[in-house]
Amino acid sequence: MFSFLIKKRFKKMLIIKLIDYYIYPVKNQIKKIALLTSGGDAPGMNASIRSVVRACVFHNIVPVGVYKGYDGLIKGRFEEMNARSVKGIINKGGTILKTARSEKFKLKTGRDEAYNSIKKNNIDGLIVIGGDGTFTGGLIFSEENNFPVIGIPATIDNDIFGTSHTIGFDSATNTVMNAIDKIRDTASSHNRLFFVEVMGRDAGHIALNTGVAGGAEEILIPEENLGLDRLIQSLKRSEKTGKSSSIVVVAEGDKTGENVFHLKEYVEKHLSDYDARVAVLGHMQRGGTPTCFDRVLASRLGVSAVESMISKKDGNMVGLQNNKVVLTPLKKAVKGVTKINKELLKVSDIMSI
Ligand code: ATP
Repeated sequence: MFSFLIKKRFKKMLIIKLIDYYIYPVKNQIKKIALLTSGGDAPGMNASIRSVVRACVFHNIVPVGVYKGYDGLIKGRFEEMNARSVKGIINKGGTILKTARSEKFKLKTGRDEAYNSIKKNNIDGLIVIGGDGTFTGGLIFSEENNFPVIGIPATIDNDIFGTSHTIGFDSATNTVMNAIDKIRDTASSHNRLFFVEVMGRDAGHIALNTGVAGGAEEILIPEENLGLDRLIQSLKRSEKTGKSSSIVVVAEGDKTGENVFHLKEYVEKHLSDYDARVAVLGHMQRGGTPTCFDRVLASRLGVSAVESMISKKDGNMVGLQNNKVVLTPLKKAVKGVTKINKELLKVSDIMSI
């Protein structure tokens, strides 16, 4: 049985290789693919670099790493990679290619310089790993130069249309959840109220998921303005029902107060019994080793990105929907808005009685 399975797998690989040698060369002119990471770093970016590089090598394409995102594309900071250049990185946070935010790439002159670098290095396609800003840049560049670009969604915010999960979201939420668990220990020892600020300027996915997982009394997100009155009522109710500690998870972009420190002051002014504290989790949310989910997602999306480039399905983002890898046009991915999961809001309300 086992040897039968091995034979079956071997046959499949052989067919893929034969297609690479005899069919793609006619159809496909892709010999070199450049890849870059851009925008905010996210755990799992390295796993996606590894996947793109190895999928390229598997399909006889030369992978070329671009250092520091679009800035590196402009400056021609390229390095040819091979299967061994990405060894030992699947479990590492950050990105070995480094990332950057490039203002120059937002200008046509900057993008023209980037195109010159690409041509000079005989690059046939570009895979960009990042968030919606990265995709916007990639899309404009692709349209201006009629150049094949594919996007891989990697951002801790999970705010990209066309995929249920972005690479990094699962790792970041686990990091936040572990931090909330620790804060809960100290909060209950001192009967304290903690406001825990998490990342999410425009999207409350991290706050909502970690708030439910961490048993928060209230979750404040940019998508819903619950109002300061409701917050006070909710905390009063918690006090009356004998809760020994309270955690309020606040997304950076929440509109209920001016900021998390303002919320603390407001609550202390209206509920003098509360001893309130603020914990801003900040950049720790981006770091750390990626979870199993993110490593698997990154591996799947990297392979799909390369194979989509080979089969001329560029201009798309690879993403996950119903646990299947699917393509969404970059145009749609950058314009679409992700919606908050209302069911989670309801669950959180019920759980915090
Ligand atoms: P994150 O979600 O983690 O912030 P992101 O990809 O959205 O990631 P941005 O800083 O918005 O991060 O974008 C990354 C880079 O993409 C920018 O620094 C810029 O170089 C490029 N970019 C963004 N918007 C545009 C645009 N309108 N035109 C050209 N390039 C752009």
